[in-house]
Amino acid sequence: MSSDRRPAFTRAFGLRIALWYATLFVLGALAIVFFTYYLTKASIEQRDRQILQSKLGDYAGAYARGGINTLAATVRAEQQAAPERLFVRVVNRGVEAIVLSSPNGWDPTTIETAAVALPDGTLVQVGKSSEAREDLLARFRAALGLVTLLVVVIALSGGWLVTQSAVTPIRRLTAAVRQIIRTGRTDARVPTEGTPGSAASPGSKDAIGELIELFNLMLDKIEGVVAAMRGALDNVSHDLRTPLTRLRGTAELALASPPDVEQYREALALCVDESDRVLVMLNTLMDISEAESGVMQLRREPVRLTEVVERAVDLYRDVGDAKDVTLDVTEVTGADITVNGDRMRLEQVAANLIDNAVKYTPAGGRVEVQVRRENGNAVLRVHDTGPGIPADELPRIWTRLFRGDASRAERGLGLGLSLVKAIVEAHGGTVTVESQPGLGSTFVVLLPLS
Ligand code: ADP
Repeated sequence: MSSDRRPAFTRAFGLRIALWYATLFVLGALAIVFFTYYLTKASIEQRDRQILQSKLGDYAGAYARGGINTLAATVRAEQQAAPERLFVRVVNRGVEAIVLSSPNGWDPTTIETAAVALPDGTLVQVGKSSEAREDLLARFRAALGLVTLLVVVIALSGGWLVTQSAVTPIRRLTAAVRQIIRTGRTDARVPTEGTPGSAASPGSKDAIGELIELFNLMLDKIEGVVAAMRGALDNVSHDLRTPLTRLRGTAELALASPPDVEQYREALALCVDESDRVLVMLNTLMDISEAESGVMQLRREPVRLTEVVERAVDLYRDVGDAKDVTLDVTEVTGADITVNGDRMRLEQVAANLIDNAVKYTPAGGRVEVQVRRENGNAVLRVHDTGPGIPADELPRIWTRLFRGDASRAERGLGLGLSLVKAIVEAHGGTVTVESQPGLGSTFVVLLPLS
């Protein structure tokens, strides 16, 4: 499909909508016009019939009172007073017809008549021309025709204008999508100015305005994810290069040196260490990505947080002792703090936080681990009396592969906290840190109680 055909589709769509709108509008207006015309016509006809009937009553009364002379006098008097000429005829027992008011010049086909038979057999007839009425209705028809024409013009131009304003945002959306497809770049955005219901007029958010806003938001997200993936890929390739170069260097050196089993053994052990490091890094990166994207399989079950923490503390007690770092555990005794989560993953969270605390706290320091219940949440708090985290590093510690400047001397991959955050968030919880250089760090994990 050629790309220059697409705008034509949008135009045809706009035209179709405009025509539909105009047709409905014109049909509605025509219905009103016809209804008005027939109602007016019927009411004028009815008025004429009523005039004839009432005159007939008057004349029949006059004839019954004083015969043809009284009737003639009444007709004459009336014709002098009211110029509306009526045709009056009296037929005496069907034989003799006396015309009291001649319809000279009237077209007999346009005369409407009404008659009444008196008790003596005399027939009194009254007629009235319908010409004046037809004239009036003809003028009315002409006026309505003009109005209809005007309605058609207004409907077409109004429909065109309305659909233009409705289709314009769709055109912008199409243009943005086409640009993204053509360039492969996600930095194109749909302009929101002038779009009904856009950010420019937030009070009147309509479906298209909302769609465009959501579309732009989606692009922001995609751009963010792509940038993060690029960054992660850069970091990973950078971080993989070091162990792989070391691995290669060790193997190369061993191969270049004279054959010596002990040296080979040492070189192979180093190679195993390095490959383990690479494997751990790749596995952790996979875990983080899975947890962040919601693909991580969490084997959820009711887990007592105290149990999980105790196991993690047990793992690090020896390390703490060897380093002369006291590991204190304070728990709200008796309280059943149970969360619905994956036991193994929650152990990883606790272990990573305690590992960091012990690792970064110098000899003589203290690490406090606390589990408690607070506002419907289970809280795990890990506090240490270590060096703390500089303010400029604080927002970055959750980023994959980030390692603080002062931490380079310690073992680590810079993935521990990213994994903690990803797992906690996959469980619907949050993790925060408070830290000041020299005053230690406090990590707080909040998890919804089961
Ligand atoms: P790693 O510990 O492997 O470097 P983490 O993701 O666990 O990676 O931590 C990221 C960085 O955050 C660390 O390099 C360190 O600078 C800082 N950090 C984390 N925990 C602490 C802590 N308890 N005390 C001081 N700094 C910490």
